[in-house]
Amino acid sequence: SVKQAGRNGVAFFDPEMEAAVRQRHQLQLELARAIDTGALQLYLQPQVDAGGRLLGAEALVRWPREDGTLMAPGSFIPLAEETGLIVPLGNAVLQQAAALLQRWQSEAALAGLRLSVNVSARQFRDPQLAEHVRQVIEQHRIPPQLLELEITESVFLGDLEAARRTLQALDALGVSLALDDFGTGYSSLAYLAELPFDTIKIDQRFVARLGQHSRQDEAIITTIIALGRQLQMQVLAEGVETEDQERYLLHHGCHGLQGYRYGRPMPVGQFEALARAQPTPPA
Ligand code: C2E
Ligand code: MG
Ligand code: MG
Ligand code: MG
Repeated sequence: SVKQAGRNGVAFFDPEMEAAVRQRHQLQLELARAIDTGALQLYLQPQVDAGGRLLGAEALVRWPREDGTLMAPGSFIPLAEETGLIVPLGNAVLQQAAALLQRWQSEAALAGLRLSVNVSARQFRDPQLAEHVRQVIEQHRIPPQLLELEITESVFLGDLEAARRTLQALDALGVSLALDDFGTGYSSLAYLAELPFDTIKIDQRFVARLGQHSRQDEAIITTIIALGRQLQMQVLAEGVETEDQERYLLHHGCHGLQGYRYGRPMPVGQFEALARAQPTPPA
């Protein structure tokens, strides 16, 4: 952008800003290539039930960089959203998740596990989304309910009716639907009751403040759990790190737990080893 106009009206550009623009463009090209070549990796974070049994995992995307580091989604999902790359990125994640679920179906220790993937607001508004989900389920012949789509409240900011139709189309495919980061945004109880969500995920910032004796945060958490139970939805808490947080959540009837206490996001092979090491439930 123009920092100052010269004497004769010629615009001078801020070299720092220009460098930033060029760098961003370069990152965009590299991300597009990583999507195309299948270089993005899914890390899996365990989700457990109230008895500590493994329910499944949330898939969290990582971008392996040339220097050997893994870039966290917070550093490239916003760029993907802004540039529209989120649609092919999200489709690639869905494809990988479905392939994984397919492979799990041939092994008893893995066959019942659910896999959740994040769907960003822009991807949710892609008119092809439901058709794409239908195709991956069909191609990989997976039980649809084992695939869960996590959607944030931000999708309801725009055209609520369109969002409702998309959710209904997804629900009709038999996939599970979770409302991610609940409590942070724009939710209205009036519409939540009518939408086909199976699970409400309590945002980790409320969980993080548990134990700081914040009456407000405790009230929010207990209210969300009670609400979910009233609406016959599962309630899963994110970001559970301590025994105290776990005890509080379970005491108030939370169904599912996710957080460092049960495992950090990990490579697929490591998650599968964890699942194989679970005690088999009595027949
Ligand atoms: P999210 O869906 O709310 O995912 C939970 C985030 O919390 C993950 O960060 C996870 O590593 C982190 N987390 C889990 N347990 C704990 C804990 O006990 N303590 C703390 N402090 N943090 C915990 P991550 O992997 O960096 O992902 C960040 C966000 O990026 C996700 O938030 C999600 O919104 C987005 N994201 C990740 N993968 C994808 C994807 O494939 N597509 C889209 N559209 N978004 C994605
Ligand atoms: Mg999520
Ligand atoms: Mg359903
Ligand atoms: Mg979340």
